[in-house]
Amino acid sequence: MIYDTIVIGRGPAGISLAIYLKRFNYNPLVIAYSDGALGDAHYIDNYYGLSHIKGSELVEAGVKQAKELQIDMVDAEVTSVEVLDHIYVTTTNGNFEAKTLFLAMGKKKSGLKIPTAHSFDGSGVSYCAICDGFFFKGKKIGLVGAGAYMESEYNVLKRFSNDITIFTEGEEINIPDVKIVKDKIIELCGSDKLEYVQTIGEKYNIDGLFIALGTQSGASLASHLGLATDEKGYLIVDKNYMTNINHIYAGGDIIGGLLQVSKAVSDGANAAISIKKDLDINKDME
Ligand SMILES: Cc1cc2nc3c(=O)[nH]c(=O)nc-3n(C[C@H](O)[C@H](O)[C@H](O)COP(=O)(O)OP(=O)(O)OC[C@H]3O[C@@H](n4cnc5c(N)ncnc54)[C@H](O)[C@@H]3O)c2cc1C
Repeated sequence: MIYDTIVIGRGPAGISLAIYLKRFNYNPLVIAYSDGALGDAHYIDNYYGLSHIKGSELVEAGVKQAKELQIDMVDAEVTSVEVLDHIYVTTTNGNFEAKTLFLAMGKKKSGLKIPTAHSFDGSGVSYCAICDGFFFKGKKIGLVGAGAYMESEYNVLKRFSNDITIFTEGEEINIPDVKIVKDKIIELCGSDKLEYVQTIGEKYNIDGLFIALGTQSGASLASHLGLATDEKGYLIVDKNYMTNINHIYAGGDIIGGLLQVSKAVSDGANAAISIKKDLDINKDME
């Protein structure tokens, strides 16, 4: 069977796109292996009409809505994509074929590889400066990372505090007027919330620690397929959410911009309009 669209990702971008396409009477397939960024989000407080909803509950609600519309969904990790006459997607749970592809794989986040890495998630440790920076206004902020992703988080955080320490985990960086610690973090310590960060050499009092390790998602798929990315590793799309390869679209965190639920939902809805036009124009594509 050839799907109209394969959607990789069941976060807000992927599910929003699938719902719009299904309601245009097209046949999308959603493939995903996790709840994405929302699976890590304790509570969402800034989405229209909802307050204090758990990230996992928001994903669950989206998936339920998609299932009620009888959208096909597969729980699997996509391992490769080939573009031939159609788009062929290989997964850990079968192979699938479609006329168009929507990449909504979110942003890959790497965590600290220490036993206490997740001990203070939501109580002093955050993975999203734009979401949580506000809570640490005027406080001691730590930021972990050394690449472009860390720099973009730093640019958000510096509006909230002038007491920021960047932990580079051994990397060399050069950001003026900021404390830089190269020593690796070995432990996060506190009681009911984070109190200090222990490196090999020293102990640092920190109120809020932001993790910005690693690179953005989609990068390996992008290099495999020849998809254009910007200097931060985000996929580049045109105004119709199409990548530089015909029939391959992307939206949500994978294309950068505002890394928030509202924007991911909007990307999914707008990309659905473009994919509908693509499918209408190429309806003889068999
Ligand atoms: C801790 C935290 C707190 C946050 N708080 C807020 C907040 O308060 N308000 C707000 O608006 N936003 C918040 N965000 C951001 C928000 O969660 C994201 O902007 C949003 O989820 C992005 O949606 P998306 O659909 O682009 O990607 P995601 O929601 O990340 O979904 C990505 C999907 O792609 C799938 N996937 C990736 N690779 C593969 C593969 N190879 N094969 C199969 N599937 C794959 C994943 O399994 C997942 O289903 C927060 C994020 C985090 C991490």
